Amino acid sequence: AKQDGRGAFHFFEVALDQAARERRQLELDLRMALSSGEFALNYQPIYDLKNDRISGFEALLRWTHPTRGLVGPDLFIPVAEQSGLILSIGEWVLGQACREAAKWPDHVRIAVNVSTLQFCHPGFTSTVMLALSRSGLDPQRLEIEITESVFLEGNDTVLAVLRQLRSLGIRIALDDFGTGYSSLSYLRSFPFDKIKIDKSFVDAITSDTSAMAIVRAIVVLAFSLKMETTAEGVEDCEQLEELRGQGCTSVQGYYFSRPIDGSAAFALVGRSTSV
Ligand code: C2E
Ligand code: CA
Ligand code: CA
Ligand code: CA
Repeated sequence: AKQDGRGAFHFFEVALDQAARERRQLELDLRMALSSGEFALNYQPIYDLKNDRISGFEALLRWTHPTRGLVGPDLFIPVAEQSGLILSIGEWVLGQACREAAKWPDHVRIAVNVSTLQFCHPGFTSTVMLALSRSGLDPQRLEIEITESVFLEGNDTVLAVLRQLRSLGIRIALDDFGTGYSSLSYLRSFPFDKIKIDKSFVDAITSDTSAMAIVRAIVVLAFSLKMETTAEGVEDCEQLEELRGQGCTSVQGYYFSRPIDGSAAFALVGRSTSV
């Protein structure tokens, strides 16, 4: 039995070692990815239920690794955060997203995900301003998506940065609402433009009455605070109708479109005003 125990221990040791090596390799590869042009942005339409048209796109980062092929952001974003590479990657994302969005009609916005580390970095506001001035994009067409985790970083600086961005005309969305360290005090201390209702609630909305009640409460709360709501991960008609009935402002998900590349996004909105 003792032998078996040691054997099992050894097995975990090897597995851990392997995982650490893979992570290190991923980090090395990630370092090369920017300069080698391995990143691209995809754009997922956000559909406005009131005006019945696309009101914007969310930029989603894609990495085509030279040997592994497509690597998902859920895998490499954490590595990019731990290594600090997210700062240069995030800067590239902002520049690229603003440049692309500048081609779209004026009512179409671009939403950009910003990681907490990036948001809390002292140079963040200047990075955003640089992306805007280089692309010529109207600041009101840029929406920054942050998660509740930024509020773990000391409220005062975070609020100062949020106000600074807001004073430039940039919109702020609270992403993945309800999944993190949700505290309603954030909503009191800062007037977000939008709350994004997490996919996990949308998934359950037609099967689980408590998910339905939570979504309803979020929508009502947001409405009273004059914030918009976007439901993410909408995959079928039933979910859409439920969300529409509850008064959700906009929806996003495979039911409308998967994330698509820049030229497909442009084709979708073109220069006309509606779809
Ligand atoms: P997120 O911000 O919550 O983005 C939504 C995710 O849900 C995206 O996954 C999107 O492709 C996926 N999605 C949208 N509609 C549906 C649907 O109907 N069904 C299903 N099953 N999935 C749907 P993706 O692109 O893999 O991104 C994962 C996460 O990686 C994002 O979650 C975001 O947190 C992060 N991420 C992506 N791009 C960036 C970026 O440029 N910067 C930073 N910091 N994070 C990013
Ligand atoms: Ca997002
Ligand atoms: Ca989200
Ligand atoms: Ca999410």
